[in-house]
Amino acid sequence: LLAIQNLHKEYDGVTVLDGISLNIQKGEVVVVLGPSGCGKSTLLRCLNGLEPVQGGEIRFHGENLAASNVNWQEFRQKIGMVFQSYDLFPHMTVLENVLLGPLKVQKRARKEAQEQAEQLLDRVGLRDRKNAYPRQLSGGQKQRIAIVRALCMNPEMMLFDEVTAALDPEMVREVLDVILGLARQGMTMLIVTHEMGFAQAVADRIVFIDQGKICETARPDEFFTSPRTERAQQFLNIFH
Ligand code: ATP
Ligand code: MG
Repeated sequence: LLAIQNLHKEYDGVTVLDGISLNIQKGEVVVVLGPSGCGKSTLLRCLNGLEPVQGGEIRFHGENLAASNVNWQEFRQKIGMVFQSYDLFPHMTVLENVLLGPLKVQKRARKEAQEQAEQLLDRVGLRDRKNAYPRQLSGGQKQRIAIVRALCMNPEMMLFDEVTAALDPEMVREVLDVILGLARQGMTMLIVTHEMGFAQAVADRIVFIDQGKICETARPDEFFTSPRTERAQQFLNIFH
């Protein structure tokens, strides 16, 4: 589905992604781990057209997203992204927030879009909060709404960048459970997280990045029990 080849990204002449190559098959869940500043967020942002790249290819269904003439409006519908901060519009209700993309960008009929939105809200346990405003919700609830908002566009793939990092511990589980549910349903996902137990549970494959390079790729059971590189061992020691 997604084929990243030799991706190169610099900020002001400083290399941040240094030849990243990574393939993601349909239905696969890849978790990206690595120390702070290694380039995880930058990688995800490049995949969503939020950052220009200086070299390499990002092929989605064979089409190169690293080319300059890409229609990001089209691809952002197919590759949904959820960040650490949920960025819901404060003056709009949950339902209005969730329906904005389907109605304004995708020009879908309200009835059909709303039915889907309510089904998805139901799935994350928040259907009864559809008329609430973001300020009336907890952080975990807001983050589940942000996930629903992305899913409402019927993406083929989801990118998650530390979606629980800003949450109080008691709210982390409810958000991770939504993502685990998506994995069981076969959603293709690229996930950045610092929740190691979750990473092990959800991942088909772990990709460990250090200083802008992929240092190690492994099955989760292998990675967490016997990482091959010293860098990965050091990284995991912090969590033990
Ligand atoms: P963390 O785990 O702390 O979120 P990360 O792996 O997501 O880290 P990135 O945010 O991708 O790391 O940052 C990679 C490097 O790029 C860092 O050295 C960072 O300082 C730098 N960087 C990130 N964004 C910018 C920017 N907009 N301009 C310049 N440098 C940037
Ligand atoms: Mg980051």
